[in-house]
Amino acid sequence: MKAVTYQGIKDVAVKDVADPTLQKKDDILVKITSTAICGSDLHLVHGMVPNFPKDYIIGHEPMGIVEETGTEVTKVKKGDRVIIPFNISCGQCFYCQNKLESQCDHANPHGQSGAYFGFSDTFGGYPGGQAELLRVPYGNFVPFVVPENSELEDDKLLFLSDIVPTAWWGVEQAEVSSGDTVIILGCGPVGLLAQKFAWMKGASRVIAVDYIQYRLNHAKKTNHVEIFDFTKHDELGTHLKEITKGGADAVIDCVGMDGKKTAVEMVETALKLQGGSMGPIQLASQCVRKGGIVSIVGVYGTRYNMFPLGDFFARNITLKMGQAPVIHFIPELYHKIKQGDFDPTDIITHTLPLTEAAHGYDVFDEKHDNCIKVVLKP
Ligand code: NAD
Ligand code: ZN
Repeated sequence: MKAVTYQGIKDVAVKDVADPTLQKKDDILVKITSTAICGSDLHLVHGMVPNFPKDYIIGHEPMGIVEETGTEVTKVKKGDRVIIPFNISCGQCFYCQNKLESQCDHANPHGQSGAYFGFSDTFGGYPGGQAELLRVPYGNFVPFVVPENSELEDDKLLFLSDIVPTAWWGVEQAEVSSGDTVIILGCGPVGLLAQKFAWMKGASRVIAVDYIQYRLNHAKKTNHVEIFDFTKHDELGTHLKEITKGGADAVIDCVGMDGKKTAVEMVETALKLQGGSMGPIQLASQCVRKGGIVSIVGVYGTRYNMFPLGDFFARNITLKMGQAPVIHFIPELYHKIKQGDFDPTDIITHTLPLTEAAHGYDVFDEKHDNCIKVVLKP
């Protein structure tokens, strides 16, 4: 089959590789119909996971049709249309039973935590979903079966695999409720969805920050948020605190590590800064109100010695973060899409055949061609 493979820093290639096969009795094989590129894939191709193996299949936002099932699989059958969440989770352990599927105890027995498609042995050793076929473990728990009569096309459903529930969780974690002022850092796919969800949760004011002008414009036009380009304000944190009369009730970081730098450059920059700007975290600590919540959705993969802990402590700020536990949110969010509560497709700017994945990574990473979200069709 054809699959997108990691070749080195900022280098991916579509290669012919062996088809996956069932390995356990509760595995399923899925023929992928749509699969997206995520901001987390950018961290990966920037070198976030040390010693990432060459030729490893990447990608973790797929959906498709069940092709084969193991003998113990009862949840799905051949021909079912399924969404495959990025969390690989057993469904049985304490964490899976308590809505924290991203911390499953069993799916990654050798790693510190979490198992995900397309992130190498460090995250469980499950090849990724930017491929024609995908082996999905825990077939009785992981896949979401799209109801047979559903008329919703792939593009409406695909992001239930990751960024829709991730952004929803980020807003829930921020405890956004009626009348709140919310500042959302980053206008990538995750930030743009979080903006929609902040309004849905009853926010009275939603402010978005980025520095890519076309993404800010998209945020303003489609989500009717106030926009700020952080490169145009020397003291943006102070300014945002002033205009929100003491700071926002919640700040949601949908940025993570600087997307333009490799992980190694990130660490070098952090070391040089010696108390200076920490990017989104620093900004969040400045523009959240006393007693407010900072919800970090963006991925951080290194240690940060200059973390402004004193600022968080002095102002009683609550900090929450982590890999989103997406599985338990999917049914609820599927229904919201079906009812027309929101439409996630407005972020799709590029639909490409799987064979053009390298171009997709390039435009998404370089922010060329007004790219927001790339969907690949195997
Ligand atoms: P993206 O790279 O397209 O978007 C990030 C945006 O942040 C870009 O538009 C960039 O210009 C902007 N940005 C950069 N520095 C900024 C700063 N200092 N302040 C404000 N904006 C800034 O990625 P995405 O797909 O939207 O994903 C966003 C983040 O969410 C990534 O870090 C990704 O890894 C992470 N993510 C986390 C989870 C999870 O489970 N926690 C799941 C999916 C994605
Ligand atoms: Zn993702």
